[in-house]
Amino acid sequence: MREASYYHPDKGRVMCELCEYHCRIADGHSGACRVRGNIEGKLYTANYGQVATAALGPIEQTPFYHFFPSTRVLHVGSSGGNAHSIHGLAVASVTDEHRGREVDPDKLVEVGIKQRARGLVWDYSEPIIWFEYVLACTKLADARGMYTAFRTDGYISNKALSAIGHYLDGWAVEIIGLSPSMYRHLRRAPRFEQILEATAAAQREYTCHVEVSTPLYAGLNDDAENLSRVAEWMRLALGAQVPWQVSLAPGRELDIEAHAALERARTAGQAAGLQFVYVNDGSDELVNTYCPNCKALVMSRLGGEVRVNLTLGRCGGCDYNINIRNTIFKVEISGR
Ligand code: SF4
Repeated sequence: MREASYYHPDKGRVMCELCEYHCRIADGHSGACRVRGNIEGKLYTANYGQVATAALGPIEQTPFYHFFPSTRVLHVGSSGGNAHSIHGLAVASVTDEHRGREVDPDKLVEVGIKQRARGLVWDYSEPIIWFEYVLACTKLADARGMYTAFRTDGYISNKALSAIGHYLDGWAVEIIGLSPSMYRHLRRAPRFEQILEATAAAQREYTCHVEVSTPLYAGLNDDAENLSRVAEWMRLALGAQVPWQVSLAPGRELDIEAHAALERARTAGQAAGLQFVYVNDGSDELVNTYCPNCKALVMSRLGGEVRVNLTLGRCGGCDYNINIRNTIFKVEISGR
C-alpha cells in the first residue's frame, strides 16, 4: 500500500482528484473504485505494482486497428473484480489482500524489452485505478523507446491526464453514447462529458492516436439516434479519420436484432462521414480496412492475421493517408 498522489484534505475528509468522481472519502472508507482509501487523513492506493496480467500479444487485441498495426505488445492489467463504478474492472480493495504479483516498474519494462515487445499497453483493467504505477512505468517505457497506450473508459481528471499525456502515444476509449442518463444507467458515471473532453484533449493537446469503440447494449444504446450522435461527435471533435469499432456488449448474442443494431451503427458511421468504421459481427469482411479513396484493401484481418498493404501509412495503390500511427515521435493529426 502506498500513499496516493492526487488528493487533498477536504473538511475532515480527503478528496481524490484522480478521476471525475472526485470522491470525498471519510477516514476508514474507500472511494467508488474501492482501491483508494482514507487512512487517518491520508489517501492510499492499494494496488501499486500489483500486476495480475502481463501478456505478449498483437496490438489489435486492445483494440487498435490503425496504431502500430501487426506489432506485438505487452498488455498489462491489474487485478480484476466488480466495482460498482465506471472503473468496473478494478479491484483489490484497500482492506483486501492484494491479488496481483508485485512487479517493480523497471522490471516490468525490462520484461517487455526482453520479450521484444514494441510497446506497453494498459489493458484488461482500467489504467486510471492504479495510476501512480501506470505513470511510473509509462515514463520508463517511453524513455526506452517503446510505444505506450491506454485502453480506457476515459473518466480521468484533467490533472491526471496532464501528468501522463505527453508520455502516451495511443488512447483506445470506449464511448457508449452521448446522454447523461445512459452513462448513469450503464456506467454509473455522473459527468460523462469529461470522457469526451479527455478524449479530445488526448488527441489535440497530447497528440495521442485515438480510436473509439462502442459496445451495443440491446435497447439501451443501439438505436439509430444514439449511434448517429456518437458518430457525429467523433467526426466533429476528432476528425473523419478516427477509427470506430462497434461490437456487441459482453454476453449479447448475435441474433437478428443484434445484426440489425450493428448494421445501424455502420450506417450511422458512414452517414456521419467517418472513413473507418469497423463492425465486429463475427465475419472478417467488416473489420478489414479499405482505402476511402480508391477502395483498395489496405489491411486485412482474416482470422486475426493482419496483412498490410501500406507505404509509410499511406495506401499502396493511390497514396491516400490512412491515418496510421507507426512512430513514437508525436505527429500532427491529419485528415480533418
Ligand atoms: S480514482 Fe476516482 S473513483 Fe477512485 S477514489 Fe479517486 S475519484 Fe474516487
